[in-house]
Amino acid sequence: MTTLRPSLFASRFFLLLPLLLPTATYPQDQWTAPLPPALPWDGRSQELIIPQDDPWITPAERTDLTATPSYDETVAWLERLVAAAPELSLVSLGKSHEGRDIWMVVASAERASTPAALKAVSKPTLLAQAGIHPGEIDGKDAGLMLLRDLTVKGTRAKLLKGANLLFVPILSVDGHERSSPYGRINQRGPVKTGWRTNARNLNLNRDYSKLDTPEIQAIVRAINQWEPDLYLDLHVTDGIDYQYDITFGHTGQHGLSPDIAAWLEQRLTPVLNKDLKAMGHIPGPLIFAADDLDPAKGLVAWTAGPRYSNGYGDARHLPTLLVENHSLKPYKERVLGTYVLLESTLRTLAKYGKQLRRAVIADRTRQPELVPLTWKVPDVKPDEIEFLGVQWEITPSDISGGDRINYTGQPVTLTVPYFKYDEPEVSVTRPRAYWIPPAWPEVIERLALHGIYLETIPEAREVVVELARLSEVRLAEEPFEGHVPVTAVARLERRTVTFPAGSVRVPTDQPLGDLAVLLLEPDSPDSFFQWGFFLEVLQGTEYVEGYVMEPLARRMLERNPTLKRAFEKRLAEDADFAADPRARLMWFYERTPYIDDHWRVYPMARE
Ligand SMILES: [Zn+2]
Repeated sequence: MTTLRPSLFASRFFLLLPLLLPTATYPQDQWTAPLPPALPWDGRSQELIIPQDDPWITPAERTDLTATPSYDETVAWLERLVAAAPELSLVSLGKSHEGRDIWMVVASAERASTPAALKAVSKPTLLAQAGIHPGEIDGKDAGLMLLRDLTVKGTRAKLLKGANLLFVPILSVDGHERSSPYGRINQRGPVKTGWRTNARNLNLNRDYSKLDTPEIQAIVRAINQWEPDLYLDLHVTDGIDYQYDITFGHTGQHGLSPDIAAWLEQRLTPVLNKDLKAMGHIPGPLIFAADDLDPAKGLVAWTAGPRYSNGYGDARHLPTLLVENHSLKPYKERVLGTYVLLESTLRTLAKYGKQLRRAVIADRTRQPELVPLTWKVPDVKPDEIEFLGVQWEITPSDISGGDRINYTGQPVTLTVPYFKYDEPEVSVTRPRAYWIPPAWPEVIERLALHGIYLETIPEAREVVVELARLSEVRLAEEPFEGHVPVTAVARLERRTVTFPAGSVRVPTDQPLGDLAVLLLEPDSPDSFFQWGFFLEVLQGTEYVEGYVMEPLARRMLERNPTLKRAFEKRLAEDADFAADPRARLMWFYERTPYIDDHWRVYPMARE
């Protein structure tokens, strides 16, 4: 269009535009998402909003919590607050691909602004993070209100006497700026939201184990430096409709941090539920429907792997709560619920923080002999759970050709089966250590970034280890999160291996030993292997000419009657093999010392 007489063509096009485009015949709000009806809400937490003429009103409050400020507006408001509040300081955790700072607000009654100063205070510390998924930005606007009330307004100043707060208003800063009214089709506000992924289209909440993104690298570095006692990851979930406006959860006591899980379950959860209800909210557990077209079939509780914040917290014994507000609830209700949850968490942490630290130590030193890598629903009758649902009807759809679920907005209480993925499916025995050759620096760097203790050997060393030989290798048909995922069957072989200088030994009797196991075992879905970091070893590189292999095979048969019997048996049993000259020669090649002994051998060795 622009190559041929552009100005003339363009002007004609614009003249015709109102007549030609279908929008002219549709109402203005054609693209307003037809969401199920909102449930009525008039919660007490609305008292938290300050008057419009107050100089410390937040940008979101100015819109009665219907819109959320841009990155620049958010940072400008925080800078003004921090300038006025000596308890606050603003720290950059790093920069995004597009050069934005990832800011963290440090709130400390003692005005500590560095990790060392904060540790010297010896109070428990809460790290709350918003905007890992920028469309789900409730936590940012709740946090701004709370920071103000902790400091310049003083209505919550007491909270900082018992605990410190580290607050990341926007983790996915670039995704936050990809803002439009069309970022979250299943969600009731704010009017414009950011986008789910970062500037390279990566989902940050799949990146905790592999650490590809600058944003998750920044937060993991911060976790190691600031050593928070409790970590909150603030989201908004879609899925089935229900009454709960805020749901939250963590890996249960079946996971790798049972003492922490007990604290979260027995100490924190009941207080959060009580405080949220008192302020007019409906808290619930993290839930997914077993069948989206029939919520009565039951709810599912999954066990997150370490690619997710909550699974990562469990693997590294960092108490972590995943918060998922419900997308069908209005933005105002969601932001205020998040405020109440943040406030209640700070108060509980101040009160029971010492107990939580003991739980963390217990989990860090447990180091189980058998480490579960995947989870399944046990093969027994499931428990039942009370579910505060919303009534629905199913109607056939001539659009989809299938069924459509239609939520009516009428509350209904059901008792439904509760399917919990809490039984180990695949487990592995914990080795004393792993050995990593220096040829895999991207893996070594990531382990170091996690905070895993590594011993780098200055001179070559011979070690008896177990190495996994891989077979039945399957590459995913589609890339996932910038990788080509791989699975394989791994069989262990005992070998004596000389590790070159610069190789790294990863002992598993360390606080992050369980995490090392999950990252390095090839049967672990979040291992670097399954993420496709080792595609190189799946390729054979030397080969043999038929005119060499054929006479060598003849010699092997003459000298080795056992081999001869095995070959004849294979010919008799496998017609495809017998009909494939190349396969027959390869069968012999694989039994010579010329075969590549590194091929399909996973290079992370077990000591
Ligand atoms: Zn999310």
